[in-house]
Amino acid sequence: MKVLVLEVGYIGTNCYLAVNEEQKAAVLIDPGGDADKILEIVTQHSIKIEAIFLTHGHSDHIMALDEIRQATGAKVYISEDDAEMLVKANSNLSSYMGAGRQFKPADEFYRDGQTLKAAGLSFKVLATPGHTRGGVCLVCEDIVFCGDTIFSESIGRTDLPGGSYPQLLDSIKTKILTLPDDMKLLPGHGPATTVGWERRRNPFLQ
Ligand SMILES: [Zn+2]
Repeated sequence: MKVLVLEVGYIGTNCYLAVNEEQKAAVLIDPGGDADKILEIVTQHSIKIEAIFLTHGHSDHIMALDEIRQATGAKVYISEDDAEMLVKANSNLSSYMGAGRQFKPADEFYRDGQTLKAAGLSFKVLATPGHTRGGVCLVCEDIVFCGDTIFSESIGRTDLPGGSYPQLLDSIKTKILTLPDDMKLLPGHGPATTVGWERRRNPFLQ
């Protein structure tokens, strides 16, 4: 797998393309905005988006969802606990960012611990509630796409609806810190990091 990262949208969200180069196919994670930019990269690399995986339902991770879905026909996955965030502007918080947006409902819901196959790649779903009720991390090979669960030397906000500080810490400790130190963490905002680095340096986990 090769990972392409694009910074998109109004607060700089990391949108990732997990690419299977042999098959010229990809999974798109968190289309947070700038649909044109995302589709341009896809065309440049001649890849087909086979699925869209959402780490959670906040608007800064989904603003380009409907455009990309329409252009690619790819199925959209989210947790059932975050599902209503797609269809309610108050829940996805877009109404607080000046432009209330509703999106079409997802096609599929994740199950904790399941392995999803798309674009010839396997992704393990880890339910990591705490930033939102239905937040997930997705593990493919040695990479964890972690949304807003954990950042380089920080953690996700827990003051928004559905957030819980004890729950987020528990998710990180039981689902992320139990992974090998050399696993790469690709967060929803900011630079990449590793499990080992966060184990030693993340001030919220000491
Ligand atoms: Zn978020």
